[in-house]
Amino acid sequence: MTDIGVIIGGGIAGLAVGLYAQKNSMRLTILEKAAALNCEDNLLWLAPNGLHLLADLGLLDELRTVYVPQQAMLFSTRHLRELTRLDCQKLTRSNGFPIVAVKRADLYKLMLRRFLSQGGEVLYEQKLTAISQQDDVVSLSVQGQNRSLDYDYVIAADGIGSTVRRLVFAGSDVHYQGICTYLGHSVTPVAANYVGRTIEAWGTGTRFMLTSLDGKVAYWSAIVRPDVYLKNSAPITPDFLLQLRSTFADYHPDIGRILDSADPTSLHRCNFGVVNGLKAYAAGRICLVGDAAHGMPPNMGQGASLALEDACFLVKSLRQAKTVEQAFSHYDERRRPRAKQMVQIANSMNGTFQPKGRFACAVRDVAAAAFPPGLSQMRMAHLYKVPFPID
Ligand SMILES: Cc1cc2nc3c(=O)[nH]c(=O)nc-3n(C[C@H](O)[C@H](O)[C@H](O)COP(=O)(O)OP(=O)(O)OC[C@H]3O[C@@H](n4cnc5c(N)ncnc54)[C@H](O)[C@@H]3O)c2cc1C
Repeated sequence: MTDIGVIIGGGIAGLAVGLYAQKNSMRLTILEKAAALNCEDNLLWLAPNGLHLLADLGLLDELRTVYVPQQAMLFSTRHLRELTRLDCQKLTRSNGFPIVAVKRADLYKLMLRRFLSQGGEVLYEQKLTAISQQDDVVSLSVQGQNRSLDYDYVIAADGIGSTVRRLVFAGSDVHYQGICTYLGHSVTPVAANYVGRTIEAWGTGTRFMLTSLDGKVAYWSAIVRPDVYLKNSAPITPDFLLQLRSTFADYHPDIGRILDSADPTSLHRCNFGVVNGLKAYAAGRICLVGDAAHGMPPNMGQGASLALEDACFLVKSLRQAKTVEQAFSHYDERRRPRAKQMVQIANSMNGTFQPKGRFACAVRDVAAAAFPPGLSQMRMAHLYKVPFPID
């Protein structure tokens, strides 16, 4: 296929498509609205399926220098009494890789550096504002440019708030889950207790997740169910840490210490949403990948890994199909059920892990402790396999 395409959005999904295109001797330029690489200072957990694909892209050796393999993902009471766990050593035996924690910026930089060093091009300050397709041409308008750009096809990796999805895929919108995460980090000696293990502590209507990469800094997420919805961009008041401190006052003292030493400038809010009402990931010569297609609540650590799967499968389809439309339709057929399954599981975890009432929370704790760990281990090992042949 000799058609010339373009990627909208230079996040993990856009870079993954670009890297897979290069691996298959195709060239795809990325149009990115930001002025430069722009990513928040938080952590990502990468699951075995994502690591498998990063290894396939030849990035594993470099990635190893910046990630920390987790021995276990532990789920506990608010007093840090373990209820259940996902054993990452067992996961390595069943899936070839553990779960790892990495700074988001380190993963981005690594992917971007490789993409550029292999001749890839990212054009910054290119905010897509309009898109239309006629015959075999997709025309784009980019802010500040007075002529349209024409391509044979467009791959939209423009995130959960996707402009392409809004303009092309009528009837779809983002549904917020009623769950709000405050992310932050703290320099504290307590961090030394959490290197290489991630703990998610469950309270009543709240959760607190933490880990450390180096024993000095604790990275944490305080997850609440707010009565009032505030936009991610709404300012966080200076006394907000005190409010968090009071919300999590009945948690283990380590969590209090972590909140006491939190860096107020590291705090930011994230309302997680999922895409609703989307009937297909492709329309003619335009298709959606990553969060633009499905979003992903963070409970499964799957947002980046699914974006990598989307990218790998999409480029394979483009290589094998006779036409772009066929490739996109094959991609849609195969990827939508997989993403739907993952999103459904992750969504159901919001309710199961974080009910509001005390009684429901007591039932949750008893059920989690009683559930055979081997069964959930097997289930996660199955979900964390790349569901198609890579080569
Ligand atoms: C707080 C938080 C924690 C998370 N934790 C995890 C985790 O532990 N593990 C995990 O696997 N996933 C996690 N995720 C999800 C994961 O980050 C995403 O699923 C993954 O990065 C894929 O993102 P993306 O590239 O599809 O979208 P994005 O990262 O949103 O990238 C979209 C890109 O498109 C650009 N763009 C947007 N609109 C336009 C436009 N009109 N024109 C041009 N460019 C545009 C944006 O500037 C951006 O660069 C988390 C997400 C958040 C928010």
